[in-house]
Amino acid sequence: MCHTNPSIQDIANLCYDKFKSLPKTGKPSANQWTVLACVVEHNRQTRYSRVVALGCGTKCIGYTRQCPKGFILNDSHAEVLARRAFLRYLYHEMKHDRIFHWEAKRGSFDLSEHVEYHFFSSQTPCGDACIVDESIERGDDQRAKRQRLDENSEMVYTGGKLIAGQVSEAMTSSDDMHQTPGALRTKPGRGVRTLSMSCSDKLARWSVLGVQGALIDSLLSKPIYFSTLNFCCSEAHQESLERAIYKRWQGRVSKNTRFQPQQPQIRIDGGLPFEYSQRGDWQPSPNGLVWSHVPDDLRPYEISVNGKRQGVTKKKLGSAQAALAVSKFKLFLNFLNLQQSHAELREKSQRNLPDLEQMTYASCKDLCEDYQQSWRQLKREYFLQWTCKPNELLNFTSKVE
Ligand SMILES: [Zn+2]
Repeated sequence: MCHTNPSIQDIANLCYDKFKSLPKTGKPSANQWTVLACVVEHNRQTRYSRVVALGCGTKCIGYTRQCPKGFILNDSHAEVLARRAFLRYLYHEMKHDRIFHWEAKRGSFDLSEHVEYHFFSSQTPCGDACIVDESIERGDDQRAKRQRLDENSEMVYTGGKLIAGQVSEAMTSSDDMHQTPGALRTKPGRGVRTLSMSCSDKLARWSVLGVQGALIDSLLSKPIYFSTLNFCCSEAHQESLERAIYKRWQGRVSKNTRFQPQQPQIRIDGGLPFEYSQRGDWQPSPNGLVWSHVPDDLRPYEISVNGKRQGVTKKKLGSAQAALAVSKFKLFLNFLNLQQSHAELREKSQRNLPDLEQMTYASCKDLCEDYQQSWRQLKREYFLQWTCKPNELLNFTSKVE
């Protein structure tokens, strides 16, 4: 059986065409740049590929503005928006027998064996992937001394902030701390520090635990991993991307059978730039754009500002109406809704789960034991410095006052 992945050029063109097909509202205006990230679904049998999720954005809000009801997105970097749009698509697909098939014996959904997913971004993910270890480049053991990136400057959308108190035997001075390769980081940007991890770290997590997250994992027979990661930007660096996504932890063995560290193929093409890619003399667009492959009547396309839906009146800013379809709150509703609308799932959840409507998001996630156990183990063995979201930010239910 001959199996060829779609080329990075095919993937980039699909993503650019999808972006172009979206309404002009919300897109960058003159002299604004943004990042485009997408998930492309490829069917190995039909050889048909299509974009199923898209995100554009560069912003992340500080922890002081986080929302305890799950209405507001903390992290609106393109990669994270595209992944949330992908989760929305998966929830929608689980209601129909197209890519998923309900496996009655196991009581979970099987993804079609012909379907695979490819990740695309128009920029190197922030965090570790942006750090070039010049000691490897030069073949000597001098520490990386790339020009110091100003972590307070949003013009340099790169390295991100090292987690406080992080120690490494390699570090000898505070200057080295800025550019230590392999370290975990929170998001870059000015203002109040965020609790959101860098996109490099999130991509690394998805390549071990899957991209589907805890709630969807509890519904699937296997986690979903990206087959290839594609970066269309001239500054992308193969070695740094590989280190950031999987080489940082190479040699450490995972005892878990469900979740195994993957080594997705990483591909770079600097000759196919996104029309709104970053330029020093342009400003980052303040908007986030999110699109999911769901029917038009469900409003597949949304624009966000500060993690909320654009155009919501001031009075309703604190309400569920401000929440994007890809917010924690709305995705949680998708999860609960699926439990009730899917006959076999409803039967299963009535046996195993207490009253779902009364449950908080956090306690629902805790029910996904396999995933949570593996995540705890990963945090002990791999992601030692991962930030913790305060519990009060996860204790919301599906009820809206
Ligand atoms: Zn990022």
